[in-house]
Amino acid sequence: MQPYSTQFLQEDDFLEVITALKNPLLTQGNVTLEFEKALSKFCNAKYALVFNSATSALYAAYNALNLENSEVITTPLSFVATTNMLLQNHATPVFCDIKQDGNINPEKIIPLITKKTKAIVSVDYGGKSVDIDSIKAICKDYNLSFISDSSHAIGSEYKNQKVGGLADATIFSFHPVKPMTTLEGGALLTNSKAIYEKAKLVRSHGVMKKNLWHYDVICNGFNFRMNEVQAALGISQLKKLPHFIQVRENIAKFYDSFFANNPYFTTIHQNNPYISSNHLYTILLNPTLQPKKEEVFQLFQENGLGVQVHYKPIYHFSYYKNLFGNISLPQTEAFYNATLSIPCHHKLELHQAEKIAQKILYLFSKI
Ligand SMILES: *Cc1c(COP(=O)(O)O)cnc(C)c1O
Repeated sequence: MQPYSTQFLQEDDFLEVITALKNPLLTQGNVTLEFEKALSKFCNAKYALVFNSATSALYAAYNALNLENSEVITTPLSFVATTNMLLQNHATPVFCDIKQDGNINPEKIIPLITKKTKAIVSVDYGGKSVDIDSIKAICKDYNLSFISDSSHAIGSEYKNQKVGGLADATIFSFHPVKPMTTLEGGALLTNSKAIYEKAKLVRSHGVMKKNLWHYDVICNGFNFRMNEVQAALGISQLKKLPHFIQVRENIAKFYDSFFANNPYFTTIHQNNPYISSNHLYTILLNPTLQPKKEEVFQLFQENGLGVQVHYKPIYHFSYYKNLFGNISLPQTEAFYNATLSIPCHHKLELHQAEKIAQKILYLFSKI
């Protein structure tokens, strides 16, 4: 089975992990600090905090921005953690429709703003950065915070600047399917000292260290920490991230040209103006094939192509229906009906991608 995405671990990664395992400190040591330093440098952001997942980093970011009892405008085309963590912070997600590329549509945001709106949470769908300038302009006019769930997008750029230092808080995921991995893991990047300090307290029990054995607990908190072994893997993977991105970009470019003008689906990668991590390579089924999407999915899976659908709109889930009733946003529905993610990852060699591409067109001819 060729998955739509997977981790790529090599000898140098294993060596770093083994070295970290032999260190006296397995958690809360220097390797974690070193990984945070490397991340903030890579993204040109003042502060970086690593977490045991992007989900907990999202929780901490929302908490640090005091979103309790507020409304937060966000995209329904995401992994559910984006909004689950809003609910966990007693904030109400308000779903905004998307554009043709799967990202939130800034033009649709303003009509959703109310007196209770406190923030916008965007997702860089598939790795393509959202339109940061437009979102920032809205945030400035209406005094809102801007949180970027960039779980897909470490290494992506917007106007030749790395994603990570551009929003009030940016979250990355290091889950194995994401552009680089720490097994499980996530990060929060920010230029705000206040967000950094609050998120750090939330990460570790609300504990503020003093001297000797003295410490104070100044708010509630969790254990959301990444350990030293994961951080060692993160440092090793981050060094190779530019290469990983180049590999995925080469595959994406190949797919763009191979699939140009085919009768079954369109592609969206060729319209990216800036470097994308290409976490997903998205194809959009033509309208005549959309009613047969389950058949397509099954046929592909049976033939060793681990295609996946990103995503079922969050408001489709029963938990959300029970909370917010039936919601249907036209562009989100259209995207969901059409989208399929095909294998594109940094462990994939170009000759394998060629075989996959041929197989895809062959299988479509059988539907
Ligand atoms: C993967 C993902 C998450 C959750 O990441 P974890 O590290 O698994 O917690 C959150 N948001 C988006 C958009 C994701 O793709």
